[in-house]
Amino acid sequence: MLKGFILKGIAGKYTVRTNKGDLTCEITGKIKYDNDRPIVGDFVLIELINEEEKRGMINEILPRKTELHRPKVSNVSQAVIVFALKNPDPHLNLLDRMITFAEYTGLKTVICFNKADIVTDEMIKEYREIYEKVGYSVIVTSVKEEKGKEELIEVLKNEITVLAGPSGAGKSSLLNMIQPNLKLRTGEISKKIKRGKHTTRHTELISLNKGGWVVDTPGFANLDVSFIDENRLGEYFKEINDCRHLCKFNNCMHLNEPKCAVKEKLKTKEMARSRYESYVLMLNEIRESRRF
Ligand code: GDP
Ligand code: ZN
Repeated sequence: MLKGFILKGIAGKYTVRTNKGDLTCEITGKIKYDNDRPIVGDFVLIELINEEEKRGMINEILPRKTELHRPKVSNVSQAVIVFALKNPDPHLNLLDRMITFAEYTGLKTVICFNKADIVTDEMIKEYREIYEKVGYSVIVTSVKEEKGKEELIEVLKNEITVLAGPSGAGKSSLLNMIQPNLKLRTGEISKKIKRGKHTTRHTELISLNKGGWVVDTPGFANLDVSFIDENRLGEYFKEINDCRHLCKFNNCMHLNEPKCAVKEKLKTKEMARSRYESYVLMLNEIRESRRF
């Protein structure tokens, strides 16, 4: 039995990378009657049906380390969250939401601030500090000036990465910068033209020349966080998780309780105000959704 890695799946036919090359595979009856169909990113066991025609049968799906639903892909190890420093202005609540979502899913998270060519160094420093203080790796890039290229290549090596971030942040441009042969479309208008009526989106894994894999569809499109348990939200904020055991009440929600270690961190500026505001906003949203 061969081991393989699913790169693409369209209408029951899967492209699977193996040490005998890329095979086109279908699934065996055994899997068909299970509810669990293979998805892109799955590691699978394959029976080679015809080596010349590069055909195989998928017999078994190996356990998934992670699973995303939009896009549907498994075994993603890392989220690189891309935000423009300007055009559009960074929406920090949205960024914190994406980080929370990545933490919840169990992904390693790296933040990429793009379009460094159109802002001042002070501004870059300000954003960088908020997230480095929390403990995240931050890379600053500019596609225009080819800045941060080597750093980005390094970050993507040895990982299966989903790029997240608002449209217009520069996700496609960054991938084109590190791998020009990809020729991904950039800019809103040209993407809209491509997304015509008859082009169905299929998720695919892109193999990077310098190592690593990237999901070709941006992740975390749906940023509803109301499925998160309000008592666990703090665990997904590293700087809250680090000190919540020091709060006077062990069920402290870090709102108005006395002797709250998180509020203390806020006072001493050890925790950024914007991060705390994101926490409160998300907590309220979760509570609001439970009311109905
Ligand atoms: P995506 O929606 O996140 O994939 O963003 P795109 O890659 O399509 O980029 C959106 C727009 O921003 C395009 O017009 C790009 O040319 C532009 N852009 C991307 N990166 C940079 C950058 O580093 N600097 C500047 N000035 N513009 C950029
Ligand atoms: Zn507290």
